Formats: sequence, C-alpha cells, structure tokens
Amino acid sequence: MGQRLQESLLTQEAIVARLAGDEFAILLNRLFNPEMASQQAEYITKLFTQPFDIAARKVFVTTSIGITLSSNSFENVEDLLHQADRAMFAAKYKHQNWIELFQPLESDYNLAHLELENELWEAIKLNQLELYYQPIMDLSEHKIVEVEALIRWQHPRLGLLQPDEFLALAEATGLIIPLDQWMFQAACHQLKAWQTAGHTVRLAFNFSILTLRHALTEGIIKETLTDLALSPSDLTLELTERATLEDLISVRPILDELQGLGIKLSLDDFGSGQSSLKHLELLNLDFIKIDRFFIAQIGQNSKAEFIISTLIDLAEQFNLTVVAEGVETEAQLAFLQAKKCRYAQGLLFSKAVPAHELLAQLGGK
Ligand code: C2E
Ligand code: CA
Ligand code: CA
Repeated sequence: MGQRLQESLLTQEAIVARLAGDEFAILLNRLFNPEMASQQAEYITKLFTQPFDIAARKVFVTTSIGITLSSNSFENVEDLLHQADRAMFAAKYKHQNWIELFQPLESDYNLAHLELENELWEAIKLNQLELYYQPIMDLSEHKIVEVEALIRWQHPRLGLLQPDEFLALAEATGLIIPLDQWMFQAACHQLKAWQTAGHTVRLAFNFSILTLRHALTEGIIKETLTDLALSPSDLTLELTERATLEDLISVRPILDELQGLGIKLSLDDFGSGQSSLKHLELLNLDFIKIDRFFIAQIGQNSKAEFIISTLIDLAEQFNLTVVAEGVETEAQLAFLQAKKCRYAQGLLFSKAVPAHELLAQLGGK
C-alpha cells in the first residue's frame, strides 16, 4: 500500500506516512491551489482500483480519502490531522472510494454544530447512546406483540437528547450509519434477553436509507442474527414514507435480501408522503403504520376518519397489517377497534421507556 501511494505522488514535495493499521497520511507541501489536493486524491483512488497481487491472488482494496488545507485555522499538527481524519470518516461512511474535503466552520451556529458532531462521533464510540422501547399492542388480544427500539443520547452536558435533536445532524454527516448499525446490534441483544426470559415479543427498528445503502449493513444484520440465534421473522424493519420514492427504490435489492431472510417490512408515517399508493405498489410490505397526524384527528375531523377507515380496508385487500401510531385517547382507541385496526402504538398504552421498564410491562413469567 505504502509503495503504491509513494508511486502515486504527483509532486516531489510530498511525504507519505503510515499512521496506523490501514490509515495513511500524505503531506503535500507547496500546493499552488487547493484543486491540486483533489487531483492527487482522485489519482490515488484511480490507482487503487487496480488489484494487488498477493500469493497468486488478486486482492482489491477501496479507499476513503479526507483532505484538509493548512489555510484552515489550526493550532498544531494534531488539529490538522484531526481535520483530515474527520473528513476521511465522513468519506468512509458516504460511499466506497469517496473523497471528502474538510469544511471549516465559521459562524457560531456552525461551531455549535461542529461540537455536537464531534461529540456524537465520540458518543457512538463511547457507548453513550441508549435505546428506549415503545410497545405496539395487538388490539384484539390486548397484549404487547412488538416493541419499537427508539434511540436516545445520554449527553454528558446536555442530558437526555431526543432523536429530533440529533438525527438530522447524524444524517447530514453520515454518522447515522454507525449509529443505526450500533442500534441494531444493541436492540437484537435486548430482544434475545427478553425471549430467553420467556417473553413472546417481536422487535421493530428504524433504519435510514443511508444505512441500507452502506456496504457493511447486510453483513452486520446477518451476523448479529446468526450469533444470537434470533429468528429473522421476529424483526420488523420500519422505513419512513418521508424518504423519497427514488431513495426507497434504490434500496430495493437489500430490502429483498432482508425479506428473503424473513425480516418483515413496515412503511412508517403512512399517508404523510406524496405518493403513498405508489409505495404500496413498489414495496413488498408486511405492515403500514398510519401516520399519527390522521389518528390525532379522530373525533374532530370526519374526513380524517374516512381516510383511516379507507386505509384499513385498503390494507386488507393488500394483505397488510395496519398499525395506528400516536394513539393518545380512549376515543381514538374505540374508533380504531370499531374499524378493526389490528395493532396500535401510542402514549395511551405507553411512551418509549428504558428496557427494564418495558420488562415490567411484559409482565412476570
Ligand atoms: P417514528 O419511527 O415515527 O417513532 C415514533 C415517534 O413518536 C417516537 O418519537 C415516539 O416516542 C413518538 N410517539 C409515540 N407515541 C406517541 C403518541 O401517542 N403521541 C405523540 N405525540 N408521539 C408519540 P421519538 O422516539 O422521538 O423518535 C422520533 C423519530 O426518530 C422516529 O419516528 C424515527 O423516525 C427516528 N428514530 C428513532 N430512533 C431511530 C434509530 O435508531 N435510527 C433511525 N434511523 N431513526 C430513528
Ligand atoms: Ca418508526
Ligand atoms: Ca411514525
């Protein structure tokens, strides 16, 4: 690797160093313009598409490159390396063979963001993320059939942060990928513990499109299920309808693969998107979760009520199970029961709670 990097240099004034395992740094002295750094990175990416010949085998490697410029403010060499490292990290989680330029941040807003971004990265590494679980009830049997894993961040200074306080940042930086991958493993361990204790319960989890697109995700899912000897059919992947149709179509191959294993597929926030019916046609769904926007209007808006009952009928035609989300009142529950809605989730039953509190709800066995 080092040799090939050395051969890739476009200028005499460069130094190649190996920092750790598979991490290398190149110091380019006397750049005439920033584009030269990008050209160098592109050239490296190109050279590394050629396989290595090792013991009569062809070995392929991929590269993730982060670039920072010394014209960005920095105080010491560690700072500069850290900037390059962050850009590299972002590149790594975006695509294979990606190149990312470090973005210096100037305004206070951006600085606060940057701090949060660094902290989120640390949080993933230091296990400061936590999972809460919210039950999903079977309305005819009055019992918990499934629990949804929902991420929380126990921030050392800011306290317990909710997903809407950091998920947009996680999506924008690619950190959502290691976050989701961590979440999946942690939730599966929890499911295993409940099942081992004798509880019949399924697990629902949320993945970002970015996570589904990431090359390692499928392997992590399969490995986790095998290691824990979990039945894939006890898992439901929730995809939000807020994702664009193009995005959902782009992950069809992995969705097919996961459904092939037996994992169920649910479309979350159903009715909130622009083309809900197209989603029904294009995805091979097992569940739809009717968006809580509609549920909240039960008893107040007959049009919303009509939409809900139509969706329930429609779902039956498609052989889908309906989950009503955001159920907060007895009146809403009564309406849904009258319409033969199968599952429901919401504050009326329970908010999302830590695992040990959920265990109490599952009852002693
Ligand atoms: P979601 O998947 O639609 O999850 C339901 C959200 O509604 C949860 O908020 C839940 O606490 C809240 N909720 C439940 N019942 C009620 C109710 O009766 N009334 C009201 N007003 N709200 C209720 P939370 O936990 O803040 O999660 C927000 C969103 O963050 C989730 O929406 C999901 O899209 C996303 N999310 C959470 N955890 C993860 C994760 O691990 N990975 C990814 N990619 N996304 C996640
Ligand atoms: Ca969800
Ligand atoms: Ca939802």
